Amino acid sequence: MNRKNGQQRMIEDIEREVAYTRQLIGRNHLDPRVMDAMREVPRDAFVPDHLKHAAFDNGPLPIGHGQTISQPFIVALMTDLLRTRPEHRVLEIGTGSGYQSAILSRLCKEVYSVEVVPELSSTAQRLFRELGYDNIHLKTGNGYEGWPEHAPYDGIIVTAAASHIPSPLIEQLKPGSRLVIPVGEPYSYQKLYLVEKDTGGNIKAREILGVSFVPLV
Ligand code: SAH
Repeated sequence: MNRKNGQQRMIEDIEREVAYTRQLIGRNHLDPRVMDAMREVPRDAFVPDHLKHAAFDNGPLPIGHGQTISQPFIVALMTDLLRTRPEHRVLEIGTGSGYQSAILSRLCKEVYSVEVVPELSSTAQRLFRELGYDNIHLKTGNGYEGWPEHAPYDGIIVTAAASHIPSPLIEQLKPGSRLVIPVGEPYSYQKLYLVEKDTGGNIKAREILGVSFVPLV
């Protein structure tokens, strides 16, 4: 299947899944800016050669090192929940394939992303250079600690499941901003949380829907 048809099918699958889950997410459609970014970024570039044929399926795929590139619907939903603006500087934990960072790079000014597996980080770095995505900054390390040097952030997204919300990430979030994170047991019951820090610094967390992510280690 060529890229254009594949992307189109992926977009339709995301829209269908948004419609199925509208009671949980409270909307019939995601932000058109987010959907445009999902149309723009070539997901096939982020999956291994032997899985290119499945690059536009609405499911996660293995990327090596026991890790996965997330399902397109979940990438779109998490990005939407973050409510990015073009002037934003955002933090991602779990660079993985780099696909989520690439989506964010189309919507924000700067993207900072932390990955614990050095090989994944360097593969992603190479891809960003090839694709000309020059506003993504990568670091290898433990994302539990965030990336304090560039804090505070206008939004934080965690793409691995944690047993609890890491307090360094709450600290590195700007007042009036959002953190999107899966919380729960490894490979089992997890919920996607939307965490909001209000302008007074108070934290409010809300469950959105059930998800399945690789664990934050
Ligand atoms: N956002 C990725 C999804 C990758 S899966 C994508 O779009 O492809 C989650 C990633 O989180 C894996 O690459 C895993 O190695 C990484 N990870 C797990 N624990 C981590 C930690 N403590 N710090 C940073 N990255 C971590």
